[in-house]
Amino acid sequence: MATTAPTASTVTGGIWLFEDTNAGATFTPERLSDEHRLIDQTTEEFVSKEIMPNHDQLETKDWDLARRLVQRAGELGLMGTDVPEAYGGIDLDKASSVVVGTRVGQGGSFGSTFGAQTSLSILPLVCFGTETQKQKYLGKLVSGEWVGAYCLSESGSGSDALGAKTHAARQDDGSYVLSGEKMWITNGGFADLYVVFAKVDGEHFTAFLVERGYSGVSNGKEEHKMGLHGSSTTPVILQDVNVPAENVLGDVGKGHKVAFNTLNYGRFKLAVAASGGAQVAIAEAARYAAERHQFGRPIASFGAIKHKLGEMAVRLFAVESMIFRTTGLLDASLADHDAGDADILRETLEELAVECSILKVAGSEMIDYVLDENVQIHGGNGFVKDYAAERHYRDSRVNRIFEGTNEINRLLIPGTLVRRALKDRLPLIAEARRLQDEIMNPPALPEDSDAPLSDQVRSVGAFKKTAVMVLGLAMQRYGEKLTDEQEVLSWAADILIDTFAADSAVVRALQASTDAPTTALLQQDAASIYVNDAAGRIETAAKSALATMAEGDDLRLNLAALRRLLKVTPVNTVVRRRRLADAVVGRAGYTLN
Ligand SMILES: Cc1cc2nc3c(=O)[nH]c(=O)nc-3n(C[C@H](O)[C@H](O)[C@H](O)COP(=O)(O)OP(=O)(O)OC[C@H]3O[C@@H](n4cnc5c(N)ncnc54)[C@H](O)[C@@H]3O)c2cc1C
Repeated sequence: MATTAPTASTVTGGIWLFEDTNAGATFTPERLSDEHRLIDQTTEEFVSKEIMPNHDQLETKDWDLARRLVQRAGELGLMGTDVPEAYGGIDLDKASSVVVGTRVGQGGSFGSTFGAQTSLSILPLVCFGTETQKQKYLGKLVSGEWVGAYCLSESGSGSDALGAKTHAARQDDGSYVLSGEKMWITNGGFADLYVVFAKVDGEHFTAFLVERGYSGVSNGKEEHKMGLHGSSTTPVILQDVNVPAENVLGDVGKGHKVAFNTLNYGRFKLAVAASGGAQVAIAEAARYAAERHQFGRPIASFGAIKHKLGEMAVRLFAVESMIFRTTGLLDASLADHDAGDADILRETLEELAVECSILKVAGSEMIDYVLDENVQIHGGNGFVKDYAAERHYRDSRVNRIFEGTNEINRLLIPGTLVRRALKDRLPLIAEARRLQDEIMNPPALPEDSDAPLSDQVRSVGAFKKTAVMVLGLAMQRYGEKLTDEQEVLSWAADILIDTFAADSAVVRALQASTDAPTTALLQQDAASIYVNDAAGRIETAAKSALATMAEGDDLRLNLAALRRLLKVTPVNTVVRRRRLADAVVGRAGYTLN
């Protein structure tokens, strides 16, 4: 396989599918610097001392308090990590932003307020704002003096965001008059600046910066939500709002660029926040399992509970490994560029769209698993409000819905890879052909090796080939009509998600032998369990996809190739999960780094 490493200034999204699993050059949590750890400490103190004690009050919808907390985050510099100093930011690397996002993700509803401010309001301005717009608005948002909101969805257009009805009528003096109603807007009830998407003359999808103070801007009532009660979600109503020409964000007719690049970063940061939330839940579950006695023993001593605790750690480990690997790619691409170079940031986010969608799906599904099992470990206490497990469970459910539903993101993952392959930007077609030859003339199986995780490295190579095989066959079978085959695309997405996760987890565990010797064995446990179980899931998804696309001898040939490829020797997952569970209980939380 090819081995194209990212250069200092450019990365190729999705290239990992065609590369060998190589340890050494991948960014991981173990490689955070002392400066990152100081930022982590500051953010942890902010969350534990200022957010968590105010949580119940925030749930009463005390938006003055929410505003004060946003300002406090501004004072601490937490909202300026992605912003050049010229606009009031502190211009740090994306790893710093991830450190902040992980901790703030532990702050319940406030995490949502903060995400709408940073990823959905500040980021589009950084990427697409004119110099005047940046000078006018960024400082206020970064300091927390102003709160931002992102208004894309409407009652009739959520997933189909480009179907928005909000209208922008161009005026003779160059300004625009906006009319329409946006739905489910985070920070809607108290934001000062709205990034609004509307169609100029009913046709050209465009982003606008709309101040709350403009005549005709108002918000509807707070939604009665399942969770996130401490985060404002309202309709935003625009009644003949006059918006000056200089408040067009990006170009007229190019609103989709603003919307989708912003969402790429939002998806990435959603996974970051989910990893923070999962850390908290694992600590809660570990403490409860250690304290709660049944049948004269702590429930943490039962194999069924150890299985849950161990599996929580495995899934978080895999998502965390993908997050940090993607962070490393982002930082590598941005490294040699000026802080204010918005072009490279936009290009990099677009380039890493597949990784961002993978993270969105994997992060949101990982945290829902963790929180569901946290409730289960708490038994009856998990179902009552006296324990945080109940609230976490409700708060998290929306993660699978917003920032593009998981169904839409699943379609984007293989869809984007195929589009790039057709433009010769990824070697998918050539690899699929090579694989067909390999199926007809299978090579000898490689010899066994005693090197750590050598079986897992080999299995991940097989996962990559399986993904290429399914995608290649899908392109051949359906051609341009592939977009209509959502079931096949979704299976392909599941294979790709598990492959990126397994690849990232294995690389990280291999690097841990030098980067984190004290937890290296636990990391190897987590990686080998992930690979073991992913092999089963990948086989099921691939079989279903192949049986949809081929029949007769063709199907038999492909299934035989699949069986050969995915001949993965099972590992003893019980002993490994128990070790992980005992570590989680012993350390009262998830600490694999
Ligand atoms: C708490 C909360 C906060 C939010 N914050 C914001 C915000 O700040 N800004 C903002 O703009 N929006 C926000 N949203 C809106 C959110 O982004 C949308 O709800 C989401 O995009 C889904 O749109 P929808 O609700 O219209 O569902 P629909 O698009 O109607 O989808 C319904 C179901 O159909 C599926 N589906 C739809 N189309 C397809 C398709 N082509 N193929 C296969 N399946 C499909 C979906 O996956 C889903 O399962 C928020 C929502 C909530 C609940």
